[in-house]
This record gives sequence, C-alpha cells and structure tokens, in this order.
Amino acid sequence: MTQIKKIKIDLSGACNAKCGFCPYHGEKKSVLRGTPGNSPVFIKTQPLLSSLESVRSINPRPEIGHSGRGEALLHPDFEKIALASRKMGFRQKLITNGILLGEHAGVVNGCFEKVAVSLHGMGDAHDSIVKAKGAFSRAVSGIRRMIPGNVILAFVVTPENFMDMDGFAKLAVELKVQARFQFDFLAHASGKLLDLPGLLDAVAKIRSDYPWIPFVPELGESQARAFFSKGAYIVNKYECRHYGQVVEIRFDGMAHSCSGIEFGSIYTSSLGGIVAGMERTAFMHSIKSQLESAGGLSNKACDRCCYQSPPKEI
Ligand code: SF4
Ligand code: SF4
Repeated sequence: MTQIKKIKIDLSGACNAKCGFCPYHGEKKSVLRGTPGNSPVFIKTQPLLSSLESVRSINPRPEIGHSGRGEALLHPDFEKIALASRKMGFRQKLITNGILLGEHAGVVNGCFEKVAVSLHGMGDAHDSIVKAKGAFSRAVSGIRRMIPGNVILAFVVTPENFMDMDGFAKLAVELKVQARFQFDFLAHASGKLLDLPGLLDAVAKIRSDYPWIPFVPELGESQARAFFSKGAYIVNKYECRHYGQVVEIRFDGMAHSCSGIEFGSIYTSSLGGIVAGMERTAFMHSIKSQLESAGGLSNKACDRCCYQSPPKEI
C-alpha cells in the first residue's frame, strides 16, 4: 500500500461560525462542492471507524487530523470517534474555532496531542470576523481548560486584522501556549484592500518581538506582495511533499486530494483500497510530473494550500 502520513477528516460540513475569509462558510464561498446543502452535514460514524480500523496496521501508523470544512466539535459523535480512534492507537490533532472546546475538555485533553484553536482578532474584533457573539471569550475559557503544551493558537492574517497580531502574540504568552500566523490564502479572492506596507511592518515587528512564532507560509516582501495580489500564486511551484503524504476525507465520506480531486467514497470502498487505488495513483503521477516540469505546478492542480516551503528570499 502506498504510504500516507496523515488522514485529514472533516467530521462536519457545518460550522457555528462564519468567518469572512472561510472558503466554505464565508462571504465568498469559493469552494462549493460538498458544502452543506448538497450533502449530509456529518460524516457517518460507523463507516468512518471501520475505515480507520482498516488502515491502523499501516506502519508507521498515519496520524489523524480533524480539520477542514466545518467545526469538528459539532459532530454528535465527536467524543465517541475521538475515544475509538485513540483506542485504535492513532495520534490525533484537532483544529477548532474553540467555541465548544470547554464542553469537550476532558475528551480533547485525553485524546489529542495537538489542538489548534483559531483566533483572528482580540475580543469583539474576533467575534466580528467569525460572526459569532461571545466566540472569543468561549474559546479563551476553553483553552484555559486545555493542557497548555498541547495548544497552538492559530491566527489567519487578513487585510482587516493584521493590526491585532501583537495582541494575539501577547495572549499566547499569557496562556503559555504555542502560536502561529497563517496568511489568508484566499486574500487574493476577497477583493479587500490591503495596506501592504502596514502589513509588512506588523510582520517585521512580530518577527523581532516574538521570533518563536512562525508564519505559514514564510514570505519575504515580494512574495507577500504576490501572495496578496489578485490572481493565483503558488508559493513554490517546484516543491511539495504534502500531496503524497495526506489523504483527506470529506464529511460526505468522499476521500480526495489536497485540491479536491475525488478518489472514492469510504462508504463503498475500503480506505486502504482508495489509498492504493487508480485515481490517487493518477493524481500522484500528475503532480509529480508537474513538479518536475519547467513550468512547475499548475494552479489547476494546486490551490496553494500553504503547506509548501517557499523558495528562499527572506
Ligand atoms: S471556524 Fe473554520 S470552518 Fe468555521 S467559518 Fe471559520 S474558517 Fe470556516
Ligand atoms: S494544494 Fe498544492 S501546495 Fe497544497 S498539498 Fe496540494 S499540491 Fe501541495
């Protein structure tokens, strides 16, 4: 069987927030396929657990990341799935908006080795970006119930919120948790005006005051200019290891590539068979040959998901 290092699972296609930059629930829903309204909102518990059982013997065992198109903590069987996955020996990571974190603190602490909580501003600014009143205070009180060493605060840097980066970094220090900044990879599609000199100054100040906080992707000045400009921009057209190491499972049971190419449904095929199957093999060959070509990755195959390391410029 072809090796994979990570299985990313959308437990839910629904969310209790509505972040402006979100490709699934935000203002510009740029990713329509598989979003709520077209399909059931929660992944089916039993087929998911059977799929995981079928790949637990892969050596080394892949890790599970609950992330994606919706809020995992909304799944009615979230705790059952987390506990069963832990029993099967999977290492688990969670990305959450934190609104329901406090309500599941015991299971999250017991089953997850990393919990990334997304905060995109301080206080009311965060509530306004995610369009959920009380979201900031609920997330922070949930984080206070987590094992601090397991938590990463994640901040998506957008044209509207970069002035809050310093407050966010101070909060991470106060909570004694790790942090990361992630550039909004759909900024080019939002049509929002960006004060690029202001953003670059703010980034430089964070790099100087908090050198332990990474930016994803790390971008130099001209790269940031290209990244936030209109039109597609692939961080590094000639390098990506992620595409071959991860399989994603959508909340409707469809396994797919990083950029949404469908490989087959876990409701009708075994996950092991899908991983080794023809659709995924063809996708892998296509990306490999693009990476090795003079023109590099095409933006039809790659949606610049930010997992690449950019070419050195900084
Ligand atoms: S919390 Fe995540 S899934 Fe929900 S709207 Fe915001 S970015 Fe989208
Ligand atoms: S979307 Fe692009 S950068 Fe992301 S894993 Fe796929 S090929 Fe790599």
